[in-house]
Amino acid sequence: MTTPLWNIYGHTWAAEQLRRALLNGRIRHAYLLLGAESVGKETLARTFAMALNCLDDDPAARPCGQCRICQQIASGSHADILYSQVDATSGALKIEEIRTLAGRLALKPYDARYRVAIFRDFDAAQPRAQDALLKTLEEPPPHALLILLAQSPEAVLPTITSRSQVLPLRPVPTAEVERALLAHGADADKAALLAGVCSGRIGWALSALADETLLEQRTNALDLLENALGQGRAGRFSLAEDLAKEKLALYPLLELWGSYWRDALHLCVGSELPIANRDRADHLRRLTQLITQDDAVAALRATQQMVGTLDSNANVRLALEVMFLDYPGLGR
Ligand SMILES: [Zn+2]
Repeated sequence: MTTPLWNIYGHTWAAEQLRRALLNGRIRHAYLLLGAESVGKETLARTFAMALNCLDDDPAARPCGQCRICQQIASGSHADILYSQVDATSGALKIEEIRTLAGRLALKPYDARYRVAIFRDFDAAQPRAQDALLKTLEEPPPHALLILLAQSPEAVLPTITSRSQVLPLRPVPTAEVERALLAHGADADKAALLAGVCSGRIGWALSALADETLLEQRTNALDLLENALGQGRAGRFSLAEDLAKEKLALYPLLELWGSYWRDALHLCVGSELPIANRDRADHLRRLTQLITQDDAVAALRATQQMVGTLDSNANVRLALEVMFLDYPGLGR
């Protein structure tokens, strides 16, 4: 089995574009990688940092993956590759963190060609915090490179976007995820299952291959949803109370529930597209005999609005209650 360029599954065009820039000496100072959670943004950013700094004599062979620098970058221990951390309680990328990282980026590289700062969850930074990076983007130190990772372009300031090379990463096709899983030692059944349920988020699929609990968490989250649909107002409000206690856990949960409602909508309108949550096909089919297309649209919209609410300072429990009231009722 051949491996793709840079070992990047599903985003070959992006790897090719970065490689060409590297070989032609036309590297930009800032890149903005857009795409869903776990779609492969950070892996691409890290591999690019390796290619920029690899010790192999032949530029076309970079990154070799074998040299000291490649290995240190791969393991996250190279001093010239900086990563931002979000605030543990709020999940936000704080202005202090952005300032600190920009300051460290301005220093000369320790032993690499480029100092690279990878800003995770850049769209989780307030506009004022994003603004703190503008000066670095306008007058970047010659040896510095910024790679910003974000899920949605809407939450990134236009002044930042216009100064960056934007690379939008699409969900990775199922067959490509399967190929990556097989290459990482999955057996055929496991590869098909994880690729089928990951919604193109290859990073999640690879993590779930290494960590059984991820698949369990997903199963629990879908059980919770299917169970909630059979409950009346009281049951749903009590669930809202429980869920509101862990705000950060709600992002992946709501994303999963959104994919479930998208599946329901596909089935309601008789779409030929394969559903994302294939292991739930039976339940979804039963569900769509009981609800209308409008019900599915309303539930999907309520779920997406709930994600928006998480980004604001609104009352999470109240917002969850509102969302649950927009979900169709089955058992009432
Ligand atoms: Zn190397």
